[in-house]
Amino acid sequence: MSDQAFYSALQQKLHTLQSEGLFKPERVLASRQGAEVVAQDGRTLINMCANNYLGLSGDLETQKAAEAALQKYGYGLSSVRFICGTQTVHKELEGALSRFLGTEDTILYAAAFDANGGVFEPLFDENDAIISDALNHASIIDGVRLCKAARYRYANNDMADLEKQLQAATDAGKRHKIIVTDGVFSMDGTIAKLDEIVVLAEKYGALTMIDESHASGFMGATGRGTHEHCGVVGKIDIITGTLGKALGGAMGGFTSGRKEVIEMLRQKSRPYLFSNTLAPMIAGASLAVLERISKSTELRDRLHENTAYFRKEIERIGFTIKPGTHPVVPVMLFEAPIAQKFAARMFELGVLLSGFFYPVVPMGQARVRVQLSAAHTREQLDTVLAAFEQAGRELGILKAQ
Ligand SMILES: *Cc1c(COP(=O)(O)O)cnc(C)c1O
Repeated sequence: MSDQAFYSALQQKLHTLQSEGLFKPERVLASRQGAEVVAQDGRTLINMCANNYLGLSGDLETQKAAEAALQKYGYGLSSVRFICGTQTVHKELEGALSRFLGTEDTILYAAAFDANGGVFEPLFDENDAIISDALNHASIIDGVRLCKAARYRYANNDMADLEKQLQAATDAGKRHKIIVTDGVFSMDGTIAKLDEIVVLAEKYGALTMIDESHASGFMGATGRGTHEHCGVVGKIDIITGTLGKALGGAMGGFTSGRKEVIEMLRQKSRPYLFSNTLAPMIAGASLAVLERISKSTELRDRLHENTAYFRKEIERIGFTIKPGTHPVVPVMLFEAPIAQKFAARMFELGVLLSGFFYPVVPMGQARVRVQLSAAHTREQLDTVLAAFEQAGRELGILKAQ
């Protein structure tokens, strides 16, 4: 406590964040997660900003599965996986995820952040090349940084630029090349062009990796993810994803692929070797979630119906959205102060939303991001749409019809 200058500098930096409007306050909920949540002040809000795509966070059936696993396997293990932290439920979940994703084997992590942080360094070195989409998630960027491979970046979803980078890595004589992309980009709800990526990978002899955090459980005909949506199941080398969004919403992540890849990660991946095992109740609940969404398309159907309805209605009211089909719907407000005012007004009207502006999205691309859930009722969506219309009219941002 003897370096006062350190603390003064921190105070100054925090103050700057605040004055630049970049400070992120925490929103405290007094209820479980769901389509409706209770704020700390007791107000009920309709939640339009959770990654709760299938509505399973806060869901009672999921909770019951967690409780059953809690009863059987206890609270925790106080161990990493390889010492004494592997239970039958972890092996069952790894098997179920492999079957679900169409891969040979799967390794669990405490978070997808860890899965991405620990996937590159054990598999690639300075002789290799990682070719990464410019909008990939922070955890991929950090994982790549931890690895000695050469880094190539291509413009978001730009196949001409990807080919240019593949050529550059080839010209540099790189031994192994891996193309890495988010399956779905969370700021825009855009879907990676995996059909084209797989063709380019074949042409240049490259591996492929996708992060399925915003896709696993609901993209594609049976919810396997973006690879199913794009018709390339079995053609992606490595799949990472989270158990903390659609697949239950508590926490946890995974990496899935060929058995020799997963075996090497079990030997060398640092977040796996040096961090505690996934809590057994999460493993048990995740198993039940996979079983539930494999048996019935009900939740997925409701999510897609809600998404189609909201996308159609919000445009009819006079808002501009990024076109697409994903439950992430960016409602474009363009200017940062408008996005801030808009989100604040929606909060007053009882709708929880998040606004994004520079530097999270490009300058002039400020927006509020709506995320649909299977848990939203039509009535709730109509309430939200009415609030959008009111706030839009008050702020004079509706397009003339
Ligand atoms: C949310 C997210 C992660 C992190 O997932 P956690 O399991 O919460 O660590 C990783 N990648 C992408 C693309 C994400 O959206």
